[in-house]
Amino acid sequence: MSAPIIIAIDGYSSCGKSTLAIQLAQQLNYKYVDTGAMYRALTLYLLRNQIDIHHPELVAQSLLQIQISFRLDDTTQKQSTILNGENVEDEIRINPRVASAVSAVSAQSEVRKFLVKQQQEFGHTKGIVMDGRDIGTVVFPNAELKLFITAEPIIRAQRRLDELHEKGQNTSIEEVLANLQKRDLMDTTRADSPLIKAADAIEIDNSHLSRDEQLNKVLELVKGLNKNAE
Ligand code: C5P
Repeated sequence: MSAPIIIAIDGYSSCGKSTLAIQLAQQLNYKYVDTGAMYRALTLYLLRNQIDIHHPELVAQSLLQIQISFRLDDTTQKQSTILNGENVEDEIRINPRVASAVSAVSAQSEVRKFLVKQQQEFGHTKGIVMDGRDIGTVVFPNAELKLFITAEPIIRAQRRLDELHEKGQNTSIEEVLANLQKRDLMDTTRADSPLIKAADAIEIDNSHLSRDEQLNKVLELVKGLNKNAE
């Protein structure tokens, strides 16, 4: 078996990063960390505790009260996000207040320092797939494989809408598209760790790729790395 590596996946909102990351982790028997879920869970904590998210000092003071972890269900292989012992997986995905607030929270440097440190600890033993916005640029600048995933905005909005409908949420494509575009703008223009493609990342536009086509493309890249290392 080849030596375990770090796979860093970055890209815009709802472009299928998590789907790809989960598939890769299963195929390679790697750990999977969804860093967006960490920012979402932290945002949920602030909203529930009525902490003013636009007040960085108050936000920074709350960080010590927040513990985020992941739990993998052995039977379904579904990973859940745990906030201070509570499974918040569904709530962080469907609560529209989380989607609206998360980019303002994630722009704050103290928040990023707090979560990036934990993310780097997850990667100490390698054998990990991590997805987010700054994984190849900040969290793991030395990752062996860096991917930058894109897709056309309307296709991303439709995928996200399907996901929300599946979870019983009634919303419109216009609303979903507006939220994606707002988050993309905030994520790419913030001062600390903006979403940008790392110079050595491989870009994949999956607008017209099936999940399996995308997975096979990336597995070929992993194989190529292994061959070069032999
Ligand atoms: O990936 P997801 O859409 O769940 O991420 C939610 C938000 O968390 C993003 O819009 C972004 O503001 C923030 N985020 C981040 N850095 C990461 C992952 C997510 O700033 N590594």
